[in-house]
Amino acid sequence: MTADKIRELVAQMTLEEKAAMCSGADFWHTEAVERLGIPASMVSDGPHGLRKQDEQADHLGVNESIKAVCFPAGCGTAASFNRELLQKMGEALGNECQAEGVSVILGPAVNIKRSPLCGRNFEYYSEDPLVASEMAGALIHGIQSKNVGTSIKHFLANNQETRRMSCDSRVDERTLNEIYLAAFEGAIKKEKPWTVMCSYNKINGTYAAQNHQYLTETLRDKWGFEGYVMSDWGAVNNRVEDLKAGLDLEMPGCKGVNDKMIAGAVISGELDESIVDEAVERILNIVFRYEENRDKNAVFDRDKDHETARKVAEETIVLLKNDNVLPLSDGQKVAFIGKYAKTPRYQGGGSSHINSHKITSALDAAAGMSNISYAQGFDDAEDKTDAKLLAEAVETARSADVAVIFAGLPDKFESEGFDRRHMAMPNCQNELIEKIAEVQPNTVVVLHNGSPVEMPWVDKVKGIVEAYLGGQAVGGAVCDILFGKVNPSAKLPETFPLRLEDNPSYLSYIGEGDMVEYREGIFVGYRYYDKKKMDVLFPFGYGLSYTTFEYSNLTVNKEQMKDTDTMRVTVDVTNTGDMAGKEVVQLYVADKESTVIRPVKELRDFAKVELAPGETKTVTFTLDKRAFAYYSVKIHDWHVESGEFDIMIGKSSRDIVLTKTVTVESTVKLPFVYTTDTTIGDVKRDPRAWELIQGLIKGGIFGEQPEASESGVASEAISDEMNAAMEEYLPLRGPISFSGKVTMADIQALVDKLNALEE
Ligand code: BGC
Repeated sequence: MTADKIRELVAQMTLEEKAAMCSGADFWHTEAVERLGIPASMVSDGPHGLRKQDEQADHLGVNESIKAVCFPAGCGTAASFNRELLQKMGEALGNECQAEGVSVILGPAVNIKRSPLCGRNFEYYSEDPLVASEMAGALIHGIQSKNVGTSIKHFLANNQETRRMSCDSRVDERTLNEIYLAAFEGAIKKEKPWTVMCSYNKINGTYAAQNHQYLTETLRDKWGFEGYVMSDWGAVNNRVEDLKAGLDLEMPGCKGVNDKMIAGAVISGELDESIVDEAVERILNIVFRYEENRDKNAVFDRDKDHETARKVAEETIVLLKNDNVLPLSDGQKVAFIGKYAKTPRYQGGGSSHINSHKITSALDAAAGMSNISYAQGFDDAEDKTDAKLLAEAVETARSADVAVIFAGLPDKFESEGFDRRHMAMPNCQNELIEKIAEVQPNTVVVLHNGSPVEMPWVDKVKGIVEAYLGGQAVGGAVCDILFGKVNPSAKLPETFPLRLEDNPSYLSYIGEGDMVEYREGIFVGYRYYDKKKMDVLFPFGYGLSYTTFEYSNLTVNKEQMKDTDTMRVTVDVTNTGDMAGKEVVQLYVADKESTVIRPVKELRDFAKVELAPGETKTVTFTLDKRAFAYYSVKIHDWHVESGEFDIMIGKSSRDIVLTKTVTVESTVKLPFVYTTDTTIGDVKRDPRAWELIQGLIKGGIFGEQPEASESGVASEAISDEMNAAMEEYLPLRGPISFSGKVTMADIQALVDKLNALEE
């Protein structure tokens, strides 16, 4: 329906009908207006499967939804670093929505993994905003190609579950832009999600739902978002103010209470009716976009999508350690140990919980193989070693050639609604791994978890496979990796620190009461560990393969460019092993020298390439201003400081294999305001200013230059270096106290002259 037609329709609606349209009819539907032919429109969770509820709706995943297909969760799909794969998964989800009459699927969820403790990390993508935004963008692209909407969430700075409905995320402007907004920005600008879901929390004192700055100025005015903003379920606090801020749809239904408030505010003149009209237009635009593009032939083929889920899972499994133990061979006697071999933990709890139509465990997948034995090893209902289960497992492992332990985090350790307290796995599982490793030299651990864990046994086992929460088909995918039918190709989209205490947010995470200060600023994840040169358990971007890759010929199409230009970077990647495989080529950029505090390097692009043994492919990246920029709070915009930058190609953030230095020149001059506190050093940076002040010094504006002895310091105690440093940091007003010959008025006159140079 055209914008004009929608406007005409809105013009025919009564104030009450329009007010009602601004909140859900119930848990999952928008309002219908039968007399005008406006249908109700259904939304459903997301993000890694369809959680379509009919009766007894709830937003915490408590009540059953329809049988559906659980794809790997965000923690895993991000590890694929594969945009095409996420697009395919999106297409499958979009088709499912078409078949089930769902207009918008509530995801993807792109919140940054500020701490490994966030209970919802399993749903989120990365500690890096580029990875989060690119993965989300690819999923959105796939879903929306089926004429089904997405709701990128939870906007904004919602990085913990503790007090999630009332906490206040205190984040400085640069950090918000470089890290937390950036996770949404690329996906929203490029892929135009039909809707955005605002989060529960406050951002710097104002609820996300009520935040005009982010919901309107950033989202719509800066980024060009044209869809509707819906609230997270129950995130509305003041319906009228929220509407003014740019929140169009309140979810779930408010049983009419807030609708009356909206209508009342219009009648009393507190709320301009045009704001209500605009919100309704935005909602109807999406309602009809879906309605008019219904795919009547769409079929929810669960078995087919199960196979897609398995394909996706294969690329989400990260091989973390392999001392020549993997892949396993058919002739080996393999002991599968651990409850998760039989009942894998493959998804997290809460609103994203899918009612899986079938689940394939590793044991199911290995059913045809006669050389597999099994022992449960532990019970994850409580964290207590069960001596009998442990003894059985040790014996099973001892009599095999290889033991594969399926361990990880139980449901109650991580979920929506609460945060983890620590980064440890259950003691009983750690003990099991240690005991097995004592009797079985060929021990491999497969992990099912949504966020990093500590691994006290890391040196005692030969292989570690991070399977994340791999969806309902995870067992087949894990077996394919273990037995080498699939070559692992995933990389960690987050750092695994050695200890929780190493994490940059450790000192302030979850905050005090409702106040959560993001004190680590931009130094989230590898940005911090790199800067501090800290050892980590496994770095960002890391993951092994059964083959080897070599990089060569890093080239740029220009070694110098202006920040208005773009640069093409190419690099050759060769599969030097004897198995076909996929490699994630990572491009980082480092500012070699900067007057602002910056991370050592930042991921600016990545590509996944598939290579047959011996094959070489050239990967091309295009870098623009943003790849070199930081967010300047002086101009409230991205800015490049002129100078040299290293373009680094890495196998991980800690394994940079090729580097090339280029120069980027800024076309933007940052404003500089001189004050009486400006230092001599700052003046020296501009030759015109330095010349001016030298002229004035010679003319005697500072009177005679102070001798070191006059300031009470023996001249022999002052080296040239100290003298230079003292001058460098001397504020322009400094001579007032030393010389006695200039006044503040003289200095102010000097400052005015300097500022005149800037105009
Ligand atoms: C969650 C959202 C979810 C919504 C609807 C909320 O509790 O935060 O992610 O989409 O419920 O279930």
